Amino acid sequence: MQAVVLREFGGPHNLRKESVPDPDPGAGEVLLKVRSCGVCFHDVINRRGDLPRTRVPAILGHEAAGEVIAVGPDVKGWSVGDRAATLQRLSCGECLYCRQGRRSLCKRETRFFGEEIPGGYAGFMTAPVTGLGRVPTSIDWPVAATTCCTTGTAVHVVRTRGKVRAGETVLITGASGGVGMQAIQLAKLDGARVIAVTSSGVKAEVLLEAGADDVIVSHDLEFASEVRRRTLGEGANVALEIVGSLTFAQTLRALAPGGRLVVVGNLKTASVDLNPGLVIVKELEILGAYATTRAELDEALRLVASGAVRPWVAEVLPLEDAAHAHDRLERRGVAGRLVLAPGH
Ligand SMILES: [Zn+2]
Ligand SMILES: [Zn+2]
Repeated sequence: MQAVVLREFGGPHNLRKESVPDPDPGAGEVLLKVRSCGVCFHDVINRRGDLPRTRVPAILGHEAAGEVIAVGPDVKGWSVGDRAATLQRLSCGECLYCRQGRRSLCKRETRFFGEEIPGGYAGFMTAPVTGLGRVPTSIDWPVAATTCCTTGTAVHVVRTRGKVRAGETVLITGASGGVGMQAIQLAKLDGARVIAVTSSGVKAEVLLEAGADDVIVSHDLEFASEVRRRTLGEGANVALEIVGSLTFAQTLRALAPGGRLVVVGNLKTASVDLNPGLVIVKELEILGAYATTRAELDEALRLVASGAVRPWVAEVLPLEDAAHAHDRLERRGVAGRLVLAPGH
């Protein structure tokens, strides 16, 4: 098959298409003909060598969708022709965390697509069925591929972790990315007021189009006082921190008393300065949000299929454009998701 193989960590040029042997599904796995695979900033971090569990040569991509074309031993409930999309990572389904519905915290089965499991930047991939969701026929492949990590993550961040309620003000940093555009829509759907922050003026329009009530264009990323001004001095009740270290301090300062900060992204993989005093006197809550559960993926697919939220696929590119896609993502030149479509 054709696949984009990362043979060395580093720049986008290290992503090259080549011919590699077709994979075979093992026990509990199916073989997918990959129809689309989203390009996520997580892949950029992975390509740079900043994720400890990836070994090169590697095939990246945890946002894959495709048809089941072969079924391995010991697989129940999946057959040839089924439409599937991957979760980001696996979970065991049996440990205490899994039984409590917090599968993102499972430590017994932690394999991630595109890290330990070869991912979707390829014509075919094998996938343990515990890591798959079922895609309705009404959802096309590029949308199916990106739903888990964009809409599904938004469900995890806005509902499961942020517990956003009607009437609350939600601040979203890095709002024009794949997760941000979905989080805006979901927070609006759930009755919140949304303030979106972007460092790029050209993205303001698309953020308003996605439903943001207010857009703050902040080139220097000093937006906390502007958030307070636009909330009559109160601040945001919930902040969804998609950018991470670069904006963290401002996001914390922009919160209202009792505010909840949900950290879901850290683009620079750097650490932050934190003034504990601020957290104490405002009784702030700082929450992490990681990956998507199967139940959240099902809900995300339902929201997309019903039209309640609109997916934002920026462009579909051939597999050989993987390096170009990474380059564009790193230059922040994309609103929504870029998707690779392996040709067959
Ligand atoms: Zn992703
Ligand atoms: Zn588990």
